[in-house]
Amino acid sequence: MSVLTSEAVVLRTWPVHEADLIVSFFTRDYGRVKGIAKSALKSRKRFGGALEPMTVAHAFFAEKPRQELVRLDQLEIIRSPLSTPVDHARMAVLSFYAEVLDEILPEHDPQETVFRLLLAVLEQTTAAQPLVPSPSSLVPGPPSSGPWMALTYFSLWMTRLMGLLPDIAHCTACGEPLATGAVHFNTLGDGLFCALHRGGTANILTPDSWQLAQRMLRAPAAAFAAEPWPRRRAQDLRRFTLQSLERHLERHLRSAEAIARLGG
Ligand SMILES: [Zn+2]
Repeated sequence: MSVLTSEAVVLRTWPVHEADLIVSFFTRDYGRVKGIAKSALKSRKRFGGALEPMTVAHAFFAEKPRQELVRLDQLEIIRSPLSTPVDHARMAVLSFYAEVLDEILPEHDPQETVFRLLLAVLEQTTAAQPLVPSPSSLVPGPPSSGPWMALTYFSLWMTRLMGLLPDIAHCTACGEPLATGAVHFNTLGDGLFCALHRGGTANILTPDSWQLAQRMLRAPAAAFAAEPWPRRRAQDLRRFTLQSLERHLERHLRSAEAIARLGG
């Protein structure tokens, strides 16, 4: 049996047997791993609040030969998304990250770039709380705008990192450069289309969203935190990326429905 440790983010848990939990967690070094947390429901102190989805922790676990589940021994919390108050919108967005990653990441396949993306958007999701001006700071902080920027950034980059986002400057069908105001997406295929190849059920991607997507693919998430992020901004870009992810997964994401009910 080999004992392993890695930075990890908890994705999902579900009960099994009497007091055990199965835990799906995304480790930096070994990719997504599924393990069993013995007696996690009986002895709260062993894991404390560390089994909440989107908790960042040092995971200690043991791999047994020829067994699908590892034995999860310990999670040392690095950062919990619930250490500050979290509103409904942020909670729904955290659930979305967890569901997408749990569904899309193959097991035991390290994905360092996805891991770094997740840490960056987690910080932006929970950091974008209403700001209390402090006397020592005369510089106004970013406007409090909910989790919409982080959600947009995550969805766009997951689509790119999973190979579902062809070059967005050109029409996927004919390769011609796309023109502002005539950028389309549809439910049938990945990528963006010109007016000629948009297909019958196409939606238009607004100029702001198209430019934003191009900027987001070149800059870190933090670079967008100071911009105004009303709920409706880039809603069409999020719909476009969600369609790609759901088409790839061949199912609807429950957490995306919750976000839609909140108007996001
Ligand atoms: Zn075209």
